[in-house]
Amino acid sequence: MLDSRYQVRAFIYNENLLNFFLASLILSAITSYRLAKPIHKVILKALRISNKRIFGEIFQTDDEDLLDDESDSISELEIALDKIHTKMKRRKALYLQSQEEAQAFMSAVSEGLVSINVDEKIHYFNSQFAAQFLTGRQLGQESLSLKDAIRDSDVLEGFEKTIREHKGNRFTVKLATLLDNQPRYFSVSVNPIRNEKTKVMYGVVGIFHDITELKKAEQIRIDFVGNASHELRTPLTSIKGYIDTLKEDFKTGQIQQAGKFLDIVSRNIDRLMDLVNDLLSISALESANSELRLEIIHPLQISEHVVAEMAVLAAEKNISIRVIGEAPPFTADAHKLEQILRNLVSNAVKYIPQGRTVQIRWEKDQKNHVVLRVIDDGQGISGEHLDRLFERFYRIDKGRTRDAGGTGLGLAIVKHIMQSHGGNVSVKSVEGKGSEFICTFPVGR
Ligand code: ADP
Repeated sequence: MLDSRYQVRAFIYNENLLNFFLASLILSAITSYRLAKPIHKVILKALRISNKRIFGEIFQTDDEDLLDDESDSISELEIALDKIHTKMKRRKALYLQSQEEAQAFMSAVSEGLVSINVDEKIHYFNSQFAAQFLTGRQLGQESLSLKDAIRDSDVLEGFEKTIREHKGNRFTVKLATLLDNQPRYFSVSVNPIRNEKTKVMYGVVGIFHDITELKKAEQIRIDFVGNASHELRTPLTSIKGYIDTLKEDFKTGQIQQAGKFLDIVSRNIDRLMDLVNDLLSISALESANSELRLEIIHPLQISEHVVAEMAVLAAEKNISIRVIGEAPPFTADAHKLEQILRNLVSNAVKYIPQGRTVQIRWEKDQKNHVVLRVIDDGQGISGEHLDRLFERFYRIDKGRTRDAGGTGLGLAIVKHIMQSHGGNVSVKSVEGKGSEFICTFPVGR
């Protein structure tokens, strides 16, 4: 077999064939130049247009001379590519920036956000959604479907409904989250994501708004209305009963008991008045435009006023009330401070046995806060009640405290007033030894 090099050599040394080879080389060069020339022109034209656009956009110029020299097509190409590159870099930077902004925005909202494709595979979620519903292992997974994160049938049905019907829907669900052991309430709104141009739905976005606190507030309000109505109904029922009896007695002329019955009616009306006043106080304290009338107050002076008011009640039970300690004048609402003192001192007088003592003590603590203590040596309050004592209508012994004239709102009012002063109230109590209510007012007010 002949080596291929020899074959080539034999071919080249054949003169006829060599001529033929040269002729066809020239012919093909001419043909390819002819064919390539229009393409070359088209490219140049395209480049010119694109450059004009780029220059127009970037430098606001229409200067055709910039690329007029057709012979300098290489540099024209370079310039064009350079401009395209710059423009793409700018677009990329803008795109990345807007993506970062969108990410920051999604994570800044307090709601959990999740988007899924129509096959229910999760496409995007924000940090709030992850914290509530995705375990560390799930976060590491490449592909995750909605039901891997949330198994609740209402949630899955809500998303499926939007996929099916191509329209948004909203619902409320109670869900367990990874945040704590408490189930939380969510208002979930699900909406289709559509292609801007074609309007074809390609996914669904869900927003999980945590409404647990709202639900709690609603429950407190419902309980409050229920409790208040109950508290009002008790004296009203009693008043109605005694008035009806009195009416009958007057008809039959048996009026021996009338004085006693009228006393009971009068006591119940007092109770109603106390309740309505306390309810009005609570509502005024809770209203958005409740304002403190701040002034410089003299704590010992105010305490003496309250002691004077309580003198008759205290004397009935042979209870002594003393004002001790020292506190410089400070800024507070005098009327509300009196209300605090009245509630705490009257509680002590109401709930401690005959012959005991109550102290109103004023002092400054290490942090320079003004501290008021109302201390009694009564039977005290057992530990299990202490946490709930400042709740509205919370009473230790309902029957007994009602008999003592309590509304169940006194300590809730104290707590409100202290909070509005930027301070706080707490209680210490040892059963059989007595109780101590401590109000701390912040400095510099
Ligand atoms: P009330 O109007 O019933 O007194 P409060 O909110 O003022 O309502 O007090 C709540 C409950 O705390 C009272 O019902 C009472 O059982 C208990 N309490 C308050 N102060 C004292 C005290 N100094 N000694 C014992 N129990 C008290």
